[in-house]
Amino acid sequence: MFLKNEKIKITVSELSVYFSCARKLYYSCRGHEPVYFSPLSYIEHIILKEMAMSYSHLLNDPSSKDDVSVENLERVLTKVLEDIFLIYPDEMEGVAPEVVGEASENIRAYFGDMRHNLSSQAKTHDIFQLAEKISHLDKEPFLNSEKLNVTGIPYRLVEIDGSFIPVVIKTGSVPENGVWVSDRLHLTSFAMLAEDINSSTVRFGFILYARSGLFRKVSIHSTDRRQVLQAISRVRKIKEGTMPDKKESSLCNSCSYSEMCNVKASFASKFF
Ligand code: SF4
Repeated sequence: MFLKNEKIKITVSELSVYFSCARKLYYSCRGHEPVYFSPLSYIEHIILKEMAMSYSHLLNDPSSKDDVSVENLERVLTKVLEDIFLIYPDEMEGVAPEVVGEASENIRAYFGDMRHNLSSQAKTHDIFQLAEKISHLDKEPFLNSEKLNVTGIPYRLVEIDGSFIPVVIKTGSVPENGVWVSDRLHLTSFAMLAEDINSSTVRFGFILYARSGLFRKVSIHSTDRRQVLQAISRVRKIKEGTMPDKKESSLCNSCSYSEMCNVKASFASKFF
């Protein structure tokens, strides 16, 4: 049974869904289509992700080195809006221009934070150097760990002091300090894949919070590595058909599977 499990290939994206909610992963693995309440938040997510891919260029642009301006950000947003239908034809199919307009307005409301944080990080040696290295890379690397039987594609893998450091983009809110636990575990998963491929220990990585323009450095700890290994074996069980228990959380309110999840929970509660 264990060997059979070992053969099930999993992706870091599946691990990431598991870290947010195991039940959600079960539904997406069984081919259930998520029911979106509104495409607005998804469109915002796509636009922010594309914008974040330009932040390292902004930090290295001599015209914005001293101070990233609202005009710089407006230029980035305009370019993303021009390209988004070409980059995401399936996701953008049928999306009304008003929705894209509303998502853009919501994102403009973050410009103050983005501008402030990017400007101050342009003056930070570590982040400036990281941005310089990122701006010389133009591809998302495909990682395939034979040992873990897991694949994944981080935003970038940057060589620093002989190690390959993963960088991940997140479009949700940023915590006041550090990073969210699920984001740290997501990054640790990439670090473990990078180690297997490059045979060098990864001691830290970076999460780029797109909405606020903040790069956060994250240490990779043994406790997180252990949790990732546990998650890998649990994800394999879920992919084999084991339905995990429902765990109520704040995510349930905006979850695209909530209708299905609530029906299943109340159906189960008649028998248990
Ligand atoms: S409703 Fe809650 S428990 Fe159910 S899948 Fe969504 S986030 Fe998970």
